[in-house]
Parts: sequence; structure tokens; C-alpha cells
Amino acid sequence: MTDPISRKLFQRAQELIPGGVNSPVRAFRSVGGEPVFISRAEGAYLFGADGAKYTDYVGSWGPMILGHAHPDVIKAVTSAAANGTSYGAPTELEVRFAEKVVELYPSIEMMRAVSSGTEATMAAIRAARGATGRDVVVKFEGCYHGHADFLLVKAGSGAATLGVPDSAGVPASAAGNTTTIAYNDIPALRELFSARGHRIAAVIVEPVVGNMGCVPPVPGFLEEIISLCQKHGAISIFDEVMTGCRVARGGMQERSGLKPDMTCLGKIIGGGMPLAAYGGKRAIMQNVAPLGPVYQAGTLSGNPVAVSAGLATLERLDAALYEKLERLSARLEQGLRTALERTKTPGCVQRVGAMLTMFFNEGPVRSWSDAQKSDTARFGRWHRGMIARGQYFPPSQYEAAFMSAAHTEADIDTTVSAAEEALREAS
Ligand code: PLP
Repeated sequence: MTDPISRKLFQRAQELIPGGVNSPVRAFRSVGGEPVFISRAEGAYLFGADGAKYTDYVGSWGPMILGHAHPDVIKAVTSAAANGTSYGAPTELEVRFAEKVVELYPSIEMMRAVSSGTEATMAAIRAARGATGRDVVVKFEGCYHGHADFLLVKAGSGAATLGVPDSAGVPASAAGNTTTIAYNDIPALRELFSARGHRIAAVIVEPVVGNMGCVPPVPGFLEEIISLCQKHGAISIFDEVMTGCRVARGGMQERSGLKPDMTCLGKIIGGGMPLAAYGGKRAIMQNVAPLGPVYQAGTLSGNPVAVSAGLATLERLDAALYEKLERLSARLEQGLRTALERTKTPGCVQRVGAMLTMFFNEGPVRSWSDAQKSDTARFGRWHRGMIARGQYFPPSQYEAAFMSAAHTEADIDTTVSAAEEALREAS
């Protein structure tokens, strides 16, 4: 049961906004609850409309790696806003931002700033199709790449949570060139390429999936994507909107040492503002307008306030921060695993760097069909118990929880005790 203020706000919201929310998973439907309305956030904490404090493991769905309202980010945003909120003309800030992104992601030789991860993946695929002259896009079941028509096919995240992996309103023709296969299925990938490799424009992948819960790639899977793409003249796209600057400063490509042809970034690079990017090999990006025939544009692309938040965040991502995130995340992982054992709950905890998921089925979870074996009703009961104890985890089994550098060991120990109590209640 949420607090009375949130409940009243939710009633008003539902009159005017579908489901009362501006993005479906926020409605808490899959956990059988109602959303907490948030009035402010600071460090590792969210404060509800009634002032209640929650330790936050959602982090605005990923961006808030430094914690909420980090003083340096707030200073950068306020001083940028004082100079005007948007010009629709190039700025030095955008050049510095591109230089920083390219420094952190050496596979990116040229990039474009956009305003959301959805735009980034949509534009990257357009560029890939433009460069190859082919139409077919390969994606993996349970991976979510935003809500562009042709990518809402067997998508995870909110689409999976609501039971509509294939959205109404997407014409069959829009999805007709999207081929899906199971995540981590190397033989299926090889088979697909040997049958249709000459028609494939791009393979897009979450290099660690967050959108069916946290699912790491099996050894060799990402390597195979890159090598099959190279062999068949297709373009490999790492969608690092979630993993970028999350699993390492340089994302999964830094962790794995792999270099995809193209990369999509979002979330952390925008420091909590609407900012994302796509980029990759110069030969591909040189097709983008005004240099080439692949059209892509945006009124607010490279917005100075957003870019300032992004730069302020990126400049603070150093080795010490990732060491701290690793230490804290490992503590949470171990604590949750012990809580599962002590309460004899069938489950597993999967983690890569500062993203993790506790599944309510014995793992390992390697694919969308494995993820669907989780006892989501029990997850819902557990989640409601956690909210009641001031612990704010993603309100869906098919999402990852995120650590920030503002969390403390004491926060995590409190969370782990709460998790054990909530597991007992949920059994
Ligand atoms: N790609 C991935 C891997 C994501 O996790 C998301 C959003 O969660 C997106 C793309 C879409 O980003 P946005 O919500 O900013 O449009």
C-alpha cells in the first residue's frame, strides 16, 4: 500500500496520463502495487511525496551513477541554464562532449548526439542500412532497444512486463525486416548468417542484457557477432545505452576488449538529462546528413544544459569510482545470495559490475526463455515488502538494479536485512 499522498496523485494522474505514468514500467503494475510519487532525490536516496526516504537502486533507470543531485552536476546544469536553455546552433560544449565520448569509446570515430536511447538505436540502424544497402536487422529475444517500430519485436523491459512484446500499432511491414533469435545462442546465429548473411544490414545487441534482468553474454557470443558481421559485410551494433559507463567506464567494449562497428549510448552519458549518442566507424558515420544521404536531425540534439550534465558526469568517472562500485555491488550481490539461501528461496543473483538482478528461479538465466521461468508473483510480493521497508528496486523482474557511488556499505547492509525479511514474507 503506498502513502496517501501518492495514492491521491496517482488517481489524478490516471485521469490524464495513460496508466498515470509517462513510461509504462513506472506504474508498478507487474508487482501488483501502486507507484510512489517522488518529490526529490539526493545521493543514494529518493524522497516520496509524503517525505518517506527510500534507498534507490533504480537510479532513474541507470543514469544516476554519481548519485542524485551531485553538486558538480547541479552546478554545471544551473550555470549552463543561466546562459540560455537551447540555441539550435553548435556549441563548444558539444565538441568537448564528442571528444570525451570518443576518448572513452575508441571504437567510435565519429558520433552524433541525440536526445534518447530510442533515437540513438533508430539512427544507428538507419546509418547501418544506409551504409550496407540492406534491410534486415537481427536482434535478440528479450533485448530492448527503445520503442522504434521495427525494434519492438520480442523486446524485454516494460514491453515484456506488460505482456506485449509485439506492440499493437506496429505494422507488420515495419517489423518484417527484423529477425530475432535467442540471446547467447551461438549456433542459431551461425545458422542465420549462413542462410541470410548477404541480406543482413546489422546485428544489434545489448552486450550485457539489462532488459530481461541482468543477463551476461556467454563466452564467445559477442565475439561471434562481431566476426560473423565482418565476414558477411554486416554491421555490428553494441547498444550500450545501459551498459555504457555502467559495467566499466568504457562499457562492455572496454570489459571485453571488443570493438563493434557502431555503438549506442544514453543514460549515464547524459547525467540525468535527455541526452544520448550513436557513433562508430568513420566510413559509416560519413553517410549521415549533411555529409551523406542518411537523414537524421533533432531540434534539441546536443542541448547545452543536457551536454553540461553529461560532461560533468563523465569527468568524474575515474578508476576509484569503479573500484568503489565493484566493492559495493559485490557486497549487495553476496548479501542477496545469502538472503536467498537463508530463506530457502529458489533464486539466483546475476551481476556484471554495477548492475544486477535477483531472479526467483534457479539460474543461470542465459536467455529470455530462462528469464520467463522466474516466479514473478513472488518477485511482486518481495518488491512490495521492500518498498514498505524503504528499499526502492525496479518494479519489474525484467529490469536490472543499479548501484551508485553515493551508496554506502551501511546502506547495503540495511538493504540486505530488509531483503531477507521481505523474502520470508514473500514465500
Ligand atoms: N537501449 C537500451 C539497452 C535501453 O536499456 C534503453 C532504455 O532503457 C533504450 C535503448 C532506450 O532508451 P530511452 O529510454 O532513452 O529511449
